[in-house]
Amino acid sequence: MAALLKKLRRCTRAAYRICTDLGSERNVFDRPAGLETPTGTITWNPELRSELEHGCDGDAGKSVLRDPTASLLHELVHVVQFCEGLNPGEHELEAVRIENIYRRAAGLCQRRGYGDDLLPTALVKTCTPDRCPCSAPSDPPDRSVLTPATAPPTQAGEAVSIGDALLRVNRPARPGD
Ligand SMILES: [Zn+2]
Repeated sequence: MAALLKKLRRCTRAAYRICTDLGSERNVFDRPAGLETPTGTITWNPELRSELEHGCDGDAGKSVLRDPTASLLHELVHVVQFCEGLNPGEHELEAVRIENIYRRAAGLCQRRGYGDDLLPTALVKTCTPDRCPCSAPSDPPDRSVLTPATAPPTQAGEAVSIGDALLRVNRPARPGD
């Protein structure tokens, strides 16, 4: 986390701004099309706590919800990726991985992936109030945690489709949470 903020501070290749939008149904990072104005824009809804995924740490009755801090952190990872010359839309899992570091620390449900893309099992760390191992568990992981949800598409899933469509027509994807 400290390393991320350090990279953010040292970013000289591009600028970014954070625009709050209480009406936005997701948080996104928009990159400028050209390099003439290399200012990326995070659109962040600081009140958004809608569902990202069905199920939470193997409990199908719970959900992974958006958390304003986790969401902003996720978008800031995209800023760093943008600053490093990467296409943030191609590095969603890295943003989710770092978002999960915060989620674990805050005792929130962790994300299993981004849309249909799941985090590698080595990066899925279980964490409960009683037990929070610092490394991947040695026991076989609970498969229910790692099985892709067969639930209706989430907003994130839809976003992936939109991003793919945009890529196909050779326009920048719109990475988001
Ligand atoms: Zn993202």
